Amino acid sequence: MKSNDKNNNLSNLGEFGLIEQIRRQVKSDSTVPVGIGDDCAATIIPEDHVLLTSKDLLIEDVHFRRSWTSMYQLGRKSAAVNLSDVAAMGGRANHLFLGVALPIDIDATDLEDFTRGFLDECSAAGATLCGGDTCRSNGPLIISVTVQGSIAANQMVKRSGAQIDDDIYVSGFVGDSALALAQLQGDITPCDYLILRHNQPTPRLELGQQLVQRQLANAMIDLSDGLFADLGHIMEQSHCGALVDCRCLPFSSELRQHLDRNPADIETALRGGEDYELLFCADPNRADEVARLSQQLNLPLTHIGNIKAQDYSLQRIDINGNQQQVEAQGFNHFK
Ligand SMILES: [Mg+2]
Repeated sequence: MKSNDKNNNLSNLGEFGLIEQIRRQVKSDSTVPVGIGDDCAATIIPEDHVLLTSKDLLIEDVHFRRSWTSMYQLGRKSAAVNLSDVAAMGGRANHLFLGVALPIDIDATDLEDFTRGFLDECSAAGATLCGGDTCRSNGPLIISVTVQGSIAANQMVKRSGAQIDDDIYVSGFVGDSALALAQLQGDITPCDYLILRHNQPTPRLELGQQLVQRQLANAMIDLSDGLFADLGHIMEQSHCGALVDCRCLPFSSELRQHLDRNPADIETALRGGEDYELLFCADPNRADEVARLSQQLNLPLTHIGNIKAQDYSLQRIDINGNQQQVEAQGFNHFK
C-alpha cells in the first residue's frame, strides 16, 4: 500500500479501493485457496484438527485512545489480543478476519499504518488475513477481529483441567501493561518499555504449542482481564481454589522500581489486565521440565502458587508474608 499524499482521503479511495489496497499486501498462503476478494474465504486446516475460533472487539475510548497509541501499534495489538486466545488453547494460529468501522478523520495514511501493523503481527504468528469488512463510523473507530486456529482435538488445553496441588505458572512479566495504562490515565508518559508492553503485547503462541507438545499444562488461560480475574476463570471452570504467593510474582525492573516508591500500586499490577502472558497449571512433579522449557524459549516461567480444593477459594500471601482471602476480580466492562 503506497500513499505519498498526506491528504489522501479515504472517500477518494472508496471501499473497494481500500480492500484492494489491503489485499495487495497479503502474501499468498497454501492454506487459503480463496482469500480476500470473493464472497467468502476458503481455508484449510490440518486433518484431525479441530477449528479454534475467537473474536475480540476494540473500541476507541473504551479499549484504547488514539492519542495513546500509534496506528501501527494499534494494528499490531488488534491482531495480538486475538492470537493470544489461540495461544491459550495451545493452538496454531492460521487465519484472521478484520472488520473496521472508520471515523471520518481517519485518512489513508492512518489506515496504511494500521494495516501494516496488523499484517506484521499476523506474519510473526505465521497467520494470514483472509477477509473482513470496512465501513464508515459516525462515532468511534471500531475494530473487530476474528481469529481461527487449529489443534489436534485430544491436545487442547482448556480452563477446566486444573488439578489440586498443581503448580501455577505465569510467563514473562505481569503488571507492566496496567502500570502503563495507569500512567497514561494520570497524564504521565510511560517509559518506552512500558508503552510497548501496553500497546504492542506479544502473544505467547510458541509457549502454548510447546506446552501442548510436551503435555505439560493441565489448564491454561491468557492474561487479559488481570491475574486474579483470569485465575478466577480457571478456578470456576476447574471447580478448585488457589493460593498465590505475591512474593514470587515476576515483575519487570521498571515495575519493581515503581513499586519501591509506590508499594500500594501492587494492587494495580495484580488486578490490571492486558499483559497477554499465559497462566498455566502443571503437575508439581514436572517442575524440571517446565524449567527446561523456560530456558529453551528464553522466557521466564514463574511458579507463583498452587491449586487448592474448591472451598479454599482464592487466597494470597502478601509481600509481608501475611496470608489473606482475596476476591478474584479484575476488569469487568459492565461494572
Ligand atoms: Mg482469553
